[in-house]
Amino acid sequence: MDKVVNLCKRRGFVFPSAEIYGGFRSTYDYGPVGVLMLRNVKDSWWRSMVQMRTDVVGLDAAILGPPAVWEASGHLANFTDPLVDCRSCKARHRADHLDDPTTCPTCGAVGTLTEARSFNLMFKTHAGPVEDAGAVAYLRPETAQGMFINFANVLTTSRKRPPFGIAQIGKSFRNEITPGNFVFRTREFEQMELEFFVPPDEAGKWYEYWCNERYQWYVDHGIDPSLLRMRPHDADELSHYSSGTSDVEFAFPWGWGELEGVANRGDYDLTQHAQHSGERLEYFDQATNSRYVPHVIEPAAGATRAMMAFLIAAYDEEEVRGETRTVLRLHHRIAPYTVAVLPLSRKDELVGPAQRVLEALQPHWMCDYDETQAIGRRYRRQDELGTPYCVTIDFDTLNDGAVTVRERDSMAQDRVPIEGLVAYLTDRLV
Ligand code: ATP
Repeated sequence: MDKVVNLCKRRGFVFPSAEIYGGFRSTYDYGPVGVLMLRNVKDSWWRSMVQMRTDVVGLDAAILGPPAVWEASGHLANFTDPLVDCRSCKARHRADHLDDPTTCPTCGAVGTLTEARSFNLMFKTHAGPVEDAGAVAYLRPETAQGMFINFANVLTTSRKRPPFGIAQIGKSFRNEITPGNFVFRTREFEQMELEFFVPPDEAGKWYEYWCNERYQWYVDHGIDPSLLRMRPHDADELSHYSSGTSDVEFAFPWGWGELEGVANRGDYDLTQHAQHSGERLEYFDQATNSRYVPHVIEPAAGATRAMMAFLIAAYDEEEVRGETRTVLRLHHRIAPYTVAVLPLSRKDELVGPAQRVLEALQPHWMCDYDETQAIGRRYRRQDELGTPYCVTIDFDTLNDGAVTVRERDSMAQDRVPIEGLVAYLTDRLV
């Protein structure tokens, strides 16, 4: 874990936020390489969930919302965690995360923890210049409600009918009592959520379907199945409206942790918003001439948390010719750069052709370009960034019009004519 966190800082994946002012409470900034990787996580999700399907449409809803939304969703009343304080060291903990409810995990004192009190996790603010009750607004603690309150808008404009889904990626905010474990739990994070609306009698079938799909997505993007498991919630863990929830969990260094929850939410959300707003949130089925409130299957994932899992799963060290090689064995769709273009020397006669190779590759893939340092060190740097292919332009290139392509995991090298390079890489990057 420390090695991954260290690599993230050293190579520009993730920086502690406001670092020059001493940092700011478990918030993080995604650096030049991290922003590429996080985008790739989100793009891969969008590709699977929206682009490759005909039954899901996208949405990008507002982050700021009025209390009415959160009243209806139940978040104002129920989105709470039990908070305990240690009277001795003043540390705060989630009561439900304590191994021993009598002992403070920070200072070890016994009997110093206060009674648990409910703490609402939503960030409250004011919209407009006057900070009175009428101006209260909340930062969304999940993206899901945006899909429910737009259900009728999407239904009428997209011409979809159940079973169909609305997908959204975006920031969510929770005033977590105990953020930590790097970007696993932060107060500001990104989610990738799908609300899939189905005829009530098909809910069980679609719940199973999405549990399988979502587990498989992580496997297809390079996480070894031995690091993943699907954990169905026990009856006492389920929310009152859910008839089934399973978490996709990842073997984090400290134990199993949730990457994503797949929940069968019944008609709870649409019914709540229909009651509170007075709008009809249902589907009229012309074939049977009947109305019904669709049931919802929700796969809800964290983009930033998934990125961390991809990094941990990909991190590897191996011995190569007496030296330790650190390599991120990331799936090519997730890796920040797909190709690195490396002229063997900075001489003009190589830089010119290298630039032309770069320009030929850039329309297809995110490329890095690096002409400094010895080639071995540049390969090592790309290994640490997880770049699947390095393309080296050397003095032979000037005669044979070919380049050396080095594959990250095997370190195998191939000589490839420049005019066939795009096709060569395309074949391997499927
Ligand atoms: P947890 O039990 O870890 O607090 P949760 O069950 O409250 O998570 P959901 O409300 O189901 O989480 O949110 C869906 C997903 O959003 C989670 O599986 C996780 O990947 C991500 N997520 C939730 N809270 C955070 C957070 N504070 N920081 C980063 N990601 C988060």
